[in-house]
Amino acid sequence: MSILVVGSVFIDTIETPHGRAESVLGGAAMYFSIAASFFAPVRMVATVGEDFPKVEMDFLGSRQIDLSGLKVQPGQTGSWSGRYHEDMNQRDTLALDLGVFGNFDPDLPASYRDAPYAFLANIDPKLQSRVLDQLHRPKIVGCDTMNHWINESRGEIEKLLSRVGLLVINDEEARLLSGEHNIVRAARKLLAMGPHRVLIKRGEYGVIQFSADSVFAVPAFPLEEVFDPTGAGDVFAGGLMGQLARSGDTSEAGLRRAIVYGSVMASFCVEDFGPGRLRRLTGEEIEQRYRQFVALTNIEGV
Ligand code: AMP
Repeated sequence: MSILVVGSVFIDTIETPHGRAESVLGGAAMYFSIAASFFAPVRMVATVGEDFPKVEMDFLGSRQIDLSGLKVQPGQTGSWSGRYHEDMNQRDTLALDLGVFGNFDPDLPASYRDAPYAFLANIDPKLQSRVLDQLHRPKIVGCDTMNHWINESRGEIEKLLSRVGLLVINDEEARLLSGEHNIVRAARKLLAMGPHRVLIKRGEYGVIQFSADSVFAVPAFPLEEVFDPTGAGDVFAGGLMGQLARSGDTSEAGLRRAIVYGSVMASFCVEDFGPGRLRRLTGEEIEQRYRQFVALTNIEGV
């Protein structure tokens, strides 16, 4: 059961209180794909410039990630540089050059159109809708967005939300999009816009899922040291969609397990700069941390 993802593949330079990493692989579609590829085959839709390092292309190709939708264009790969504060929930963008991503117009290869699972990572909501138009009856569609698009293209986001099942966004964006400060009220308003489930990412405080008749919350996995939170939200979405595709279980229980797998993947992501930890991760480590997570949140039996 393969998963389609559309989004950015960038080159990042990251500074955190723990150090600095220059020219590492970045972008939401990249983080999502690596995480999801531990669970199911991934079809990536993105664009990079001719300068994109061959070694990174080979790395992506070495996972179960289909790159026939990764368009290489004349010009530069998008690049982003950011610096995190001591409180790593806060960061400043120091530089952003969209490069060829600035004229990204996702066109899906015919072989991608029957993907049963799809994730529309944070890009122009008009493009997210265009991708959705090209898919033949997907089983589950998830999407993300960010404050820039909420401020610039609210109408387009509202159109998109009436067509997706899962909205995965962070708390700040949930407040901005709903106009409600309280997270529960915000989630209710977002559900009324169309998605069956709203998953609100709260950084080091974990994730809360809302549907019309249920609420489910998990903490973030407690870690002594967080090196770099870049991409953790996309990795969460990758683990979540990956587990849904691997299990085919989209019941409430299946969703809850997928949320825990997403949280497990995000906890690995933050342990090193960029996708460093994910590059060395094994399936056994994922299952082991999943079991630790279940024990961590076990309320009834010790
Ligand atoms: P996150 O930590 O989830 O916000 O994701 C960070 C990733 O988003 C980084 O790897 C950046 O390369 C990428 N990124 C930064 N700005 C943009 C943008 N305007 N559009 C798409 N991707 C971006």
